[in-house]
Amino acid sequence: MVGVIGDPIAHSLSPLLHNAAFDALGLDWVSVAFPVPAGAADAALIGMRALGIAGLSVTMPHKEQAFGAVDDTTEVARRLQAVNCVTGRDGMLRGDSTDGAGFLAALARAAGFDPAGKRCVVVGAGGAARAVILALAEAGAVEVVVVNRTVARAERAAALAGTVGRVGSGEDVAGADLVVQATPLGMDRGDGAASDALPVDPGALHAGQVVADLVYHPAETPLLRAAQERGARCVGGLGMLVHQAALAVQRWTGRSVPVEAMWAAARSRPTQ
Ligand code: NAP
Repeated sequence: MVGVIGDPIAHSLSPLLHNAAFDALGLDWVSVAFPVPAGAADAALIGMRALGIAGLSVTMPHKEQAFGAVDDTTEVARRLQAVNCVTGRDGMLRGDSTDGAGFLAALARAAGFDPAGKRCVVVGAGGAARAVILALAEAGAVEVVVVNRTVARAERAAALAGTVGRVGSGEDVAGADLVVQATPLGMDRGDGAASDALPVDPGALHAGQVVADLVYHPAETPLLRAAQERGARCVGGLGMLVHQAALAVQRWTGRSVPVEAMWAAARSRPTQ
């Protein structure tokens, strides 16, 4: 058994994605969503250990607390001080962060984009942005510019990219090969009140750029619509979700993962 912990978690696509992978692999495993309130991730991981649960995906608001509650972590998780994937084996819990690798896999699949030698702008400096910033720098981007409402947070996030990271502004968007939107702007929260506010000036977007939005509900956000109208290549947020889930299943089962089956499952249900 595996699962996902978060709050809220009822509309999570993770169990659907995991279960599609298990079906395709012919494994008699099941994934379920566990609603775990803020502050209770460490208790959930004690339960995971006691119950012998093989894997947990960790989502908002637990990624930082889970980092402190596992026995061991990967280097990526250590750098981010956050964990989104826990693997249980022989009574030990190992924490990893698969968001950045999932994002790079989604970019490669949707746009054939390789960050090596590229100039990248990331809008946002929260947990998702930090995973993307680190992954872009590790993949050889020549510049990772962080644009965020709160500058102090942007500084901490840009430091993850080392010498290629810096804090920037909306002025940097026009010169970027890749623009990543990693704030909740544009997300439909299910109350029909999706924000139309754009995180960047759409006039700065143009053909030749790749614009990736981490928001996946709706599939086409206001930013992606604006980018498409200006000829940029667009990448929606669903790919990052699917590919980080595929990496989690691979860690838990040790099997190579049927990503296409997970994509089919993701597309079978409107995202929430
Ligand atoms: P987070 O840690 O709460 O960070 C939110 C970021 O957005 C912060 O940089 C914050 O700026 C900024 N922000 C929030 N409201 C804003 C506003 N009204 N105007 C400008 N900036 C604003 O959240 P997160 O976990 O990084 O998630 C960010 C987004 O990515 C969410 O929409 C989430 O659903 C999505 N996401 C997608 C995936 C995927 O697999 N596709 C994975 C993870 C997250 P301040 O620092 O100034 O507060």
